[in-house]
Amino acid sequence: MSEEWKDQINNQINTLEKLEEIINLTDSEKEAINTLDTRWGTTPYFASLMDKDDPECPIRKQVIPSLEEKHNKYGMHDYLVWKENRATDEVRPDSIARQYKDRIAFTVFKKCGIYCRHCFRKELVVDHDLELDFNIDEGLEWISQHEEIRDVLITGGDPLLLSDDKIEYIIASLRAIPHIEMIRIGSRLPIVLPQRITEDLKRILGGYHDVPIWLNTQCNHPKEITEKTKRAVYDLVSSGVNVGNQAVLLKGINDDVKAIRELHQKLLTARIRPYYLFYCEPAPGIDHFRTPVEKGAELIRDGLRGHTTGLAQPMYVIATNIGKIPLMPDYYIMDKTDEKYILKNHRGELTEFPNIPE
Ligand SMILES: *Cc1c(COP(=O)(O)O)cnc(C)c1O
Ligand code: SF4
Repeated sequence: MSEEWKDQINNQINTLEKLEEIINLTDSEKEAINTLDTRWGTTPYFASLMDKDDPECPIRKQVIPSLEEKHNKYGMHDYLVWKENRATDEVRPDSIARQYKDRIAFTVFKKCGIYCRHCFRKELVVDHDLELDFNIDEGLEWISQHEEIRDVLITGGDPLLLSDDKIEYIIASLRAIPHIEMIRIGSRLPIVLPQRITEDLKRILGGYHDVPIWLNTQCNHPKEITEKTKRAVYDLVSSGVNVGNQAVLLKGINDDVKAIRELHQKLLTARIRPYYLFYCEPAPGIDHFRTPVEKGAELIRDGLRGHTTGLAQPMYVIATNIGKIPLMPDYYIMDKTDEKYILKNHRGELTEFPNIPE
């Protein structure tokens, strides 16, 4: 039986001809598509959200290759090997990336519902420079032998593009390991292919009280949230899956107060809880998406903290080989004496608060 989500994947918009049926391309977009040796594309659903005429459209910029990708001044060569801490003494299967004692990232699939131009895994997912073997059973075996791991983050590529049977196998196997207390899934599909959240998938992921699932998606601009997204997230949440967002700070897409505030407010209207705002990682060929590091903290200071509900606040982090490092705005404590703190709010007003000795 054909399912809508499979049709979306089989009919991906990944050629110039198909793209030209949807939007009017600029000469430079055409040249990038014709000359760059890179995988690109997305679902017809997500492509339909692109602006027909505006090359600055935030969705176009995430989907369509750019000639800027040829430049690489700041990106690291072999970025993913560094980032995922693969060159260490601990022997681990390729599917296991480790930076922390109690949790790991478990990579199970290489394909995506969109080949994001800013992807930090682009060497693996988009450009295929890096070959890794994602043997699921080998990964599960490693996890079952490491009792200190209590939290498994299933990632990719996009793990929800696997068949229902494979997803059920992975989830059921993890739930059967006594030391696994929670499972996480990183997937862009609620945004780029909400049709994937089917009745069967809800049954596979939901319905358990123990070993809960937290799904973090990636949504970078308010334009990406539609009625279909809202419905898919409602379906996930009502079947017991918690849904969060990990946005990437992207120059020219969401690096302004208006876009960042609207994004985080709109996520909440779709029941998606903001989790992280990532600095755009130094993978090769994506310099043009990167802002100065301070930008994310400034946007939280000027657009989010105090300007809207605390529920809409992501934590701004830099992802590194030694873990994620928070870089939050630091204007709150203006002064401190033995008796008191002087604190500042988002409007620049000051207040005093007692300093309690230990
Ligand atoms: C991001 C990441 C995690 C999860 O980190 P949290 O801060 O707990 O969300 C775990 N392992 C690796 C290798 C990661 O990159
Ligand atoms: S969905 Fe994730 S892994 Fe896939 S291309 Fe986008 S950022 Fe990379």
